[in-house]
Amino acid sequence: MSVNLSALFRIKAEAAAKKATVVAVSKTKPVADILEVYHAGHKIFGENYVQELVDKQLLLPADIEWHFIGHLQSNKVKFIAPFVSLIHGADSFGLLKEINKQALKNKRVIPCLLQIYIATEETKFGFSVSEATMMLQSPEFSDLKNIEIRGLMGMASFSDNVELIKNEFKGLSGFYLQLKASYPWFSILSMGMTGDYKIALDQGSTMIRIGSAIFGHR
Ligand SMILES: *Cc1c(COP(=O)(O)O)cnc(C)c1O
Repeated sequence: MSVNLSALFRIKAEAAAKKATVVAVSKTKPVADILEVYHAGHKIFGENYVQELVDKQLLLPADIEWHFIGHLQSNKVKFIAPFVSLIHGADSFGLLKEINKQALKNKRVIPCLLQIYIATEETKFGFSVSEATMMLQSPEFSDLKNIEIRGLMGMASFSDNVELIKNEFKGLSGFYLQLKASYPWFSILSMGMTGDYKIALDQGSTMIRIGSAIFGHR
């Protein structure tokens, strides 16, 4: 009952009009709610907690594309490495090294996004623009053959200041386009959630992560 399929379809149409994809963020929500969204034709889901993701993945259809969107601790990478489709929050070189190691063990190449720090708050994880630039150029990074950086992810400040959010997304989008000139296989700019996805789409997001608009409040 709590799943809002009309919101799902409306947001998917808004995203499609801008050639963007929707990740349905199902953290803390029961398997039955996810199945309802799945049976409505949506197959991309995002989760924030490793144990919860592992439990749900076992119970749900195998053709679901699972994205890990939260802060990932290195010691937990091994649990999701066999099946995860995209890791949005790669926020340190150490974490990328561990993802690479676990991907190799699973004979996979795991797609990742670099999380970039764009918000004014001190608590958000991520690389700065200069850290990400330097890392991408480093030989240590080129050695990681079992990860593939597909683009960037960022979270705007938790604020109702539209101008602030817009400027943060605009900055991230500019950096993404700049990197894409050097790394033409970049195809994903993951920015925008329930509260700010319209601003994100206007600023060039290619992937929005929508939780509460679809699944209700947490
Ligand atoms: C929870 C979460 C979302 C979805 O948030 P809503 O505001 O419910 O749409 C998106 N991205 C990340 C990283 C999250 O943790």
